[in-house]
Amino acid sequence: MKTYHLAVLPGDGIGPEVVNEGMKVVQALSEADSSFQFESTTLEWNSEYYLKHNRMMPENGLSILENYDAIYFGAVGDPRVPEHIPIWELIMPIRKNFHQYVNLRPIKQLPGVKSPIHAKGLIDFYVYRENAEGEYSNSGGRLYQGTSDELAIQNTVITKKGVERLARYAFEYAEKTGVKKVVNATKSNAIIHSMNLWDESVKSVAASFPEIEVEDTYIDALAAHLVQRPETFDVIVASNLFGDILSDLGAALVGGLGLSPSANLNPERNYPSMFEPIHGSAPDISGKQTANPIAQIWSAALMLEHLGREDLASIVMKAIENVVNEKTALTPDLGGTARTFETGDAIVQHIHKQT
Ligand code: ATP
Ligand code: MG
Repeated sequence: MKTYHLAVLPGDGIGPEVVNEGMKVVQALSEADSSFQFESTTLEWNSEYYLKHNRMMPENGLSILENYDAIYFGAVGDPRVPEHIPIWELIMPIRKNFHQYVNLRPIKQLPGVKSPIHAKGLIDFYVYRENAEGEYSNSGGRLYQGTSDELAIQNTVITKKGVERLARYAFEYAEKTGVKKVVNATKSNAIIHSMNLWDESVKSVAASFPEIEVEDTYIDALAAHLVQRPETFDVIVASNLFGDILSDLGAALVGGLGLSPSANLNPERNYPSMFEPIHGSAPDISGKQTANPIAQIWSAALMLEHLGREDLASIVMKAIENVVNEKTALTPDLGGTARTFETGDAIVQHIHKQT
């Protein structure tokens, strides 16, 4: 029997609520098929942990995580802890040390979900966001603090290797799925050093994929196009910051944060990849069982796909689609009255029907 070892980090706020539903789904799949099982270890590395130990994870946290096949992550963030702490002490070290340089964010409108805009077709595209360098660097500093001349410098680090490996992954996906055009989010007219290297690096990868067109689009125009004609996009490659913004915009187009999953991928598979919803810990609604667990459950589907179990991923996706379409077990963000666990239960029931 094949065993997949999962490290589960529920995190803070609604994190544990939605991760609980995700794990119910994963367990339902393993119970239905005796050829594999999931063995999971829950690691409570969250804001409570920080308040006790003054750090987000144990000193050897990364070497503990390294032994797992995948990391299933909820969300971290707590009003009692400075906002940058969970990002810089937990999420970023995991992404960087495990070379999870691809942040994949599917923007897919499920049948039956209303978009706030009237697109001419179903919205279905992938944002490939660079996840290891770029604008989110800790290079820079502040000068003349406390004076009227105070200034801050924040450096962006773009490397040819870093862009090329991200672009290659996106183009390979485009090739595999028959996508004819990749849109490159850029701003090389104004951010002339880093964004020109970005564009050149994307182009050098594109040269190996002659059948795929690459279209450079300035980030400001692209944001407008995504509102005007989102149905025309298939694959977007974007830097860390641009990708972050575009995928939140995309999430809003297809039903909001409650429906938006993501994967932090290490394509070489030397290290575990990490799967988490786009949303944060949402302290305003935590503890009420009103959070939508679908983004977290969908993230589990991305995890199954990455583990080579596309068959299981598609069972989960079909179950999600059925529940969304039936509209009887939807949480308040989608106009329903169901509680978090009821949406999870409904998805599990649809999994049982298929297995
Ligand atoms: P972060 O800074 O980590 O992004 P945040 O609290 O600023 O965290 P989110 O947690 O992403 O932002 O949430 C923003 C708002 O969206 C929340 O206040 C909540 O009302 C809503 N929201 C987020 N996730 C969900 C969900 N799964 N279900 C329902 N509503 C959600
Ligand atoms: Mg937020």
